Amino acid sequence: MKPISEALAAMLPAFAPRGQERVQLESALGRILAEPSLAREDLPPFSNSAMDGYAVRAADLVGASSESPRALPLCGESRAGEVAPPTLEAGAAIRIFTGAPLPEGADAIVMQEDTSRAGEEVSFSTAPRAGAHVRARGEDLRVGAPMLARGQRLGPGEIGLLASQGHAAVSVWRRPRVAILSTGDELRDVSDPPRPGSIVNSNAYALAAQVREAGGEPWILPIVPDRLEEVVAQVKVGLSADLLLTIGGVSVGDYDLVRQAFDAVGVAPQFWQVAMKPGKPLSFGLYGPEGERVVVGLPGNPVSAMVTFEVFVRPGLRAMQGDPCPFRRAQEVSLAAAHAHKTGRTELARARLETDAQGGLVAHLHPRQGSGALTSVAGAEALVILPAEQATFEAGARLRALLLSEARGAASSPF
Ligand code: AMP
Ligand code: MG
Repeated sequence: MKPISEALAAMLPAFAPRGQERVQLESALGRILAEPSLAREDLPPFSNSAMDGYAVRAADLVGASSESPRALPLCGESRAGEVAPPTLEAGAAIRIFTGAPLPEGADAIVMQEDTSRAGEEVSFSTAPRAGAHVRARGEDLRVGAPMLARGQRLGPGEIGLLASQGHAAVSVWRRPRVAILSTGDELRDVSDPPRPGSIVNSNAYALAAQVREAGGEPWILPIVPDRLEEVVAQVKVGLSADLLLTIGGVSVGDYDLVRQAFDAVGVAPQFWQVAMKPGKPLSFGLYGPEGERVVVGLPGNPVSAMVTFEVFVRPGLRAMQGDPCPFRRAQEVSLAAAHAHKTGRTELARARLETDAQGGLVAHLHPRQGSGALTSVAGAEALVILPAEQATFEAGARLRALLLSEARGAASSPF
């Protein structure tokens, strides 16, 4: 039985990115840049006004104040979208609007609120410094400057920046295709009528959602009964994906045929069994001339399947997409109540989180931590890591936890 750290170290090298693709910006959200991106033009592309007001030469208004305003004649206008704004002569002002090009000769903008207008003359009650309210060409980015690095995750801000530079499409790492194969005579699909002794194949849906959340493309295969030939046949189908996840049949029972099926099709076994709870029986293998198909046999118990996915498969899928930070963030939490567990395996306890008066996170472990207790994963915000060799944990004990959602919302507004 491998400790989690060793199992992860053995698995992750198999999850290298599988190639790039170009996607339109509209569908780039959450993707990872496969190539660095450079500025194609200066940003802003031309010097422009940050305010509605008047373009002037700062030198013409030295000494102007509300007590001794200075008047200048108006000689034209520059508006947003203008191609050729008028040139500013010494001792004059040009009406200008936000985003409009700065006229040749002007070096400052006086905002409208600091002026008063009488016909074709404007009176200024302030002396601007040179550069006031001017957004200078290239002040944000210079053409050719590195803009976004390879490995950058694309959020709304990055997408806006790419668009500003005329990148309509970008190169990102391909999303891995993930086959999900559920095994078990007892399984029926969620839309099938109940039959005696059957349970719903809930894992396929939970795992497909986890795959999607990790950025992969889930592909749910038909349920296979516990018969070797049928498991073998569907494993072969699933091996066309980048990653094959099987569910169930990977333990030591007489009808646990998945590892036999892996052997039969030539999957090279890497390890089986990890010292974690839930999720001890986890099988990892490689297939193909260069081991380019990754095979993970997940345990069938719903909580075990989801937790092993979180710990092993999610980082793998993130790494396959070129994410340089593929792991969930771990955060220190304190236990709301005392807890005991059997030593020997690292336990990942499902918990809800609460913030205490000092801003620390308090973990409330779900009362049912059994590997089949699906209610414990619904609403779970964290997996609290209970070290293998410690038997009891006091209330208030400080432990580390994996945060299951990156951006936990708040019920009240900070404003
Ligand atoms: P197994 O690993 O096949 O021995 O399954 C362990 C437990 O998980 C059994 O109670 C199964 O009925 C249950 N189980 C296996 N596969 C699934 C699945 N796809 N969805 C829900 N429960 C499952
Ligand atoms: Mg089974």
